[in-house]
Amino acid sequence: MTAPVGLLALQGDFEKHRQAFAALGRSTVRVRRPAELAAICGLVIPGGESTTLSRLIDRIGLREPLREFAAAHPVMGTCAGLIMLAAKMDGEDPTDFGVRPLGLLDCTVQRNGYGRQIDSFTAPVRTDGMLGKGEDFSAVFIRAPLIVEVGPLVEVVATHEGRPVAVRSGGLLGMTFHPELTSDLRIHQAFLDLV
Ligand code: GLN
Repeated sequence: MTAPVGLLALQGDFEKHRQAFAALGRSTVRVRRPAELAAICGLVIPGGESTTLSRLIDRIGLREPLREFAAAHPVMGTCAGLIMLAAKMDGEDPTDFGVRPLGLLDCTVQRNGYGRQIDSFTAPVRTDGMLGKGEDFSAVFIRAPLIVEVGPLVEVVATHEGRPVAVRSGGLLGMTFHPELTSDLRIHQAFLDLV
């Protein structure tokens, strides 16, 4: 039997990811404790609020276990989840309140890089590489981070107005938007292909 996909369920919209994987016939389990990482084949860090995620990860003692898990298994981070995967954060956001990314995916992100909640939007992004070359994906951006720098070994797998909005490095896949908020399952399928 295949192991389920884990959904980091500390905060954020993990339930929408469950629905997306269920629509693809794949079971998921919620992950809240380090020991629960042993039973899953890959992990999603959902969008939500990175300040809270970062703090809860440290409080629960998940930082090192998550880093070890990601060294050996696929992990997908969406929006706040990408912020947590990132190598570092850039920019002067007075609401950062000490977010500490996990430092796994070699890119630099700027929190709330598109503005505040009212600046949220939906727009087509152009996919590439493992997400399919030259296709459109309707992407929902909610207080999204900007990817301001991408490391040399990181592949850009979606762009919006020429800027990277989804990146991949080995088994790590991160995007600034919310694929779980549309009925288009291509990105969840691509992640399952990594798994
Ligand atoms: N702006 C949020 C943060 O910095 C992310 C928003 C989201 O995940 N939709 O954590």
